[in-house]
Amino acid sequence: MTEFQTRGVSAGAGSGPAARRAGIGLVFLGPPGAGKGTLAKTLQARAGLRHISPGDILRQAVRDHTEYGRRALTFMRTGDLVPDEIVDAMMQAALAQAEDGSGWVLDGYPRTTAQADLLDGFLASRLGTLSAVVHFEIGEDILLRRLTGRRLCPICGAIYHVDYRPPRSAGRCDLDGAELVARRDDAPDTALHRFRVFHAQTAPLIDHYRCRGLLLTVNAEQSTEDLYDVIWEAVRPPRATPLP
Ligand SMILES: [Zn+2]
Repeated sequence: MTEFQTRGVSAGAGSGPAARRAGIGLVFLGPPGAGKGTLAKTLQARAGLRHISPGDILRQAVRDHTEYGRRALTFMRTGDLVPDEIVDAMMQAALAQAEDGSGWVLDGYPRTTAQADLLDGFLASRLGTLSAVVHFEIGEDILLRRLTGRRLCPICGAIYHVDYRPPRSAGRCDLDGAELVARRDDAPDTALHRFRVFHAQTAPLIDHYRCRGLLLTVNAEQSTEDLYDVIWEAVRPPRATPLP
């Protein structure tokens, strides 16, 4: 945690209307399976921060048949990556909804330094600065154990784990009863490859945010509860000092 210099909303608070309505703004960086989504959902439930993830937003846009959803679907149908320009526009639209000051967590975005620059510019003009960028560090062996037991609901995107988070009825989604699937990406060889690709791709992003004094590196091998405490303690708004 030594690289982390700013503290919560004080990073930009008091410097104009943008800062006043900003709330807490976090970016989560970490490989698939490091627990970013679980932590973001916990922050949403307990602290009211919006969990903004490109995967969720794409699925929602496709379900709602929006313009972006229709364009994204043409790529998703053929198994191609949705182009950055579509993802960028959707993420900015989602962030614009967070201007009510509720705060937010970006989970899985940005993925490139070009997107990070775009995000910096957008935030500067609309929502004030980031509070912190949380970098989830995890060892290869622990990550593989987590990923190979992971099961996904193809309908609603809910994620389970055969050991750590089993559904109430084996192999069925708690929310809609759909049959859970193991993603091909989570097979050991593929998972290991993704982990290494992730590190190569994320290194420049980590440097980008470290240079800005925003990087908060956490040990993602600890429990969700412990991780929550570490992150919340670092970013929560300072408690008001009682009047004498
Ligand atoms: Zn489901």
